[in-house]
Amino acid sequence: MFNALVVEKDEDGKTHAAVKELEIKDLPEGEVLVSVEYSTLNYKDGLCVGPGGGLVRNYPHVPGIDFAGTVEDSSDPRYKAGDKVVLTGWRVGEAHWGGYSQKARVKADWLVPLPNGLTTRQAMAVGTAGFTAMIAILALEDHGLTHEKGEVLVTGASGGVGSVATSILANCGYQVAGVTGRPETADYLRDLGASRIVDRADVAEVTKRPLESETWAGCIDAVGGPMLARVLGQMKYGGSVAAVGLAGGADLPAKVIPFLLRGVNLLGIDSVLYPTEKRKTAWERIASDLPMDKLETMIVPATLSDLPKLGADILQGQVRGRVVVDVN
Ligand code: NDP
Repeated sequence: MFNALVVEKDEDGKTHAAVKELEIKDLPEGEVLVSVEYSTLNYKDGLCVGPGGGLVRNYPHVPGIDFAGTVEDSSDPRYKAGDKVVLTGWRVGEAHWGGYSQKARVKADWLVPLPNGLTTRQAMAVGTAGFTAMIAILALEDHGLTHEKGEVLVTGASGGVGSVATSILANCGYQVAGVTGRPETADYLRDLGASRIVDRADVAEVTKRPLESETWAGCIDAVGGPMLARVLGQMKYGGSVAAVGLAGGADLPAKVIPFLLRGVNLLGIDSVLYPTEKRKTAWERIASDLPMDKLETMIVPATLSDLPKLGADILQGQVRGRVVVDVN
């Protein structure tokens, strides 16, 4: 028997999440059985612990879109008992049972070996949010971002994606400006390496002018909506925006002018189906470029039973940094 956070749906369509005991035979099929050590909380987890947001297909459901742990049993030659592994993406925790559990059974293709230099706890402090921040930085660099080009804007800066993006960018020598709606997080963001704090209200709405002063060489956008539209008009010539999230809305009320007159690039970032061979590179770069002392300041520790409340909090934009869930 082992513990997992199980979400059930009642006849009225309401969901309820509670810690329950399960048996190994309850787990879905897969080649690798993992003894989970840590999971984490991402925005999507907030949806899947709560009403599902259209992501969860079947109930009862075990959420948790990422986890790190030790292989207990494997029928796939790539993994053997005792190997440390990490999983993010592949719709685990949405369409498949996920990491809010002391055991998980998954496809071998979905796992990556724990990168050298990281513990399972650190890997989950990074989690899907931090991994996504890293692949967004890689996309900006692939499109020509260098330190000399100027400041990089991070929106939703005190959230999970934003905190890790700020910390990695600053450690790599970039000048970082963080947009936040929570002025009380300014010291935290400065400590992560932000050299400028932008009040959310200053970029929250679109203006009539499609172009403003050329300010940002790059942007990692976790917010979407009118803020993304506004930022497009503030990009320097040839600059790129990595569109990561929709914490502020899924609409994009933008004009095409920044693309046509300033050669601005809008880069889509998806961490779920990101190719396996590129995942290893991204994790190696995380292990080398994310300062572990800064990562430690982002961590909010939690257990399985804390998740129903924390899931609601993250949907309200009330979680700072990265929640690390010790499932044991
Ligand atoms: P968090 O909730 O940790 O961070 C989001 C941050 O956005 C908040 O902390 C807050 O920052 C800001 N924010 C919240 N609500 C609003 C609002 N209404 N208007 C403007 N800003 C707001 O979430 P994550 O960092 O885990 O995820 C961020 C986004 O990225 C989510 O939409 C998520 O779904 C998406 N995502 C996408 C992935 C992909 O593969 N593309 C992978 C991972 C995440 P502050 O208080 O500092 O303003």
